[in-house]
Amino acid sequence: MTRGPQAGLQVAGTADVLILGAGASGLICAREAAARGLRVILLDRAAAPGRKLAVSGGGRSNFSNREVTPRDYCCGQPDFCGPALAGFTPADMLTLIRAWGLPFEEREHGQLFLRVPAQRLVEALSRDCRQRGCRIVCKAPIHAVWRSDQGFRVQAGNALWQGKALVLALGSPAWPQIGGSGQGYRLAQSLGHTIIPPRPALAPLLLPPSEPLRNLAGISLPAQISLPARADEGRFWRDDLLFTHEGLSGPAALKASLFLQRNEPVQLDFLPGQNLSTLLDAPGAGRQTPRALLSRLLPQRLADAVLPAHSARRKIAELSRAARREIQIHVQARTVLPTGTAGFKKAEVCAGGVDTREINPHGMASLRCAHLHSIGELLDVTGQLGGYNLHWAWASGVAAGRAVLPERCG
Ligand SMILES: Cc1cc2nc3c(=O)[nH]c(=O)nc-3n(C[C@H](O)[C@H](O)[C@H](O)COP(=O)(O)OP(=O)(O)OC[C@H]3O[C@@H](n4cnc5c(N)ncnc54)[C@H](O)[C@@H]3O)c2cc1C
Repeated sequence: MTRGPQAGLQVAGTADVLILGAGASGLICAREAAARGLRVILLDRAAAPGRKLAVSGGGRSNFSNREVTPRDYCCGQPDFCGPALAGFTPADMLTLIRAWGLPFEEREHGQLFLRVPAQRLVEALSRDCRQRGCRIVCKAPIHAVWRSDQGFRVQAGNALWQGKALVLALGSPAWPQIGGSGQGYRLAQSLGHTIIPPRPALAPLLLPPSEPLRNLAGISLPAQISLPARADEGRFWRDDLLFTHEGLSGPAALKASLFLQRNEPVQLDFLPGQNLSTLLDAPGAGRQTPRALLSRLLPQRLADAVLPAHSARRKIAELSRAARREIQIHVQARTVLPTGTAGFKKAEVCAGGVDTREINPHGMASLRCAHLHSIGELLDVTGQLGGYNLHWAWASGVAAGRAVLPERCG
């Protein structure tokens, strides 16, 4: 941390609570704190608030999930999310969505989506904040933060802002093309926090150039993806899988990427819920080839890519037990070794962040620095695909909004 702001900077505004970042978590935190009578200023470098929220869910925002538990999150402390999630549930979010007059629908896996553009949610939330007296200042890139006798001072652009309490809501470097940045980590570090190294998550998986599955770009099918090295943790996902020019995408691959470690193999089952051995051994199956049998169950290009060349076009009846077993393994337990993920540019979120051991789980207050709170994706809390990350932004933001400056409110 530098010793203090450069000389000559004008103080542009003073608040009870300065919130850095006017994304999902910052906005809802501001709304909650303002409802308690606190004077709130939000600062954001973008031209308008909530840019990531506006593109979330393919533009329809998967804003929450019917059921949300700490098990839906990847976090250094598995129980950390519990109090905030209990304090702001999906039902609470639905109450707000209804109050704002936003139509929504439930899709598979309990995912709650808007039926109108996500920008409408950004507008409703921002309007609510302004009506409660919050000031939203855009085009205000944060450069540095300092502790002062009165609380905190923040340099944003060429202006200085003062607040008794500070909330860091600066998100993560995921999707830098719409404003994702790692600045939040640097500011948290400058105020005494430890950062768990960030890594892209909910991102496509890359396969080596030699992997035959890379030739299947465009094919999409329901599949099961699992992490065999951690079978005891029950890490498997049954969802749509999409082949790309570089590897694997679609919800199944994105979900696996959250837990995948470096050099960890992934197992693919292209016929989830079925038993290929039984189909190969069925009466009457012996007269056909494995290729003919599989082409009725899978896209032909995929069947050709996964079947062992030496047995694909022979009659099933001519195949030994070992050869049939080999076919089953190739189709239902195909192991691939990703070389990594497609990186922050294509990652929906970022795993890692502010170490939760240094944060009070009830109000997201720092255990290192008085009157400092950290919320949303900036924390080492990453949700599964399905509305869990936005729900975490809401729940952690509300928790901080209720807890910030407790002595200032009745
Ligand atoms: C394409 C995409 C789609 C997604 N869809 C979904 C979905 O449907 N459901 C779901 O649950 N999750 C989704 N997510 C994840 C979700 O959007 C994030 O987890 C959530 O927005 C995090 O909220 P946040 O407030 O922590 O951060 P953000 O919403 O990212 O807000 C951070 C704010 O800080 C500002 N900022 C950053 N650096 C600076 C700086 N130096 N100075 C000033 N301001 C700064 C940014 O401009 C931004 O407004 C999606 C993510 C992406 C990228």
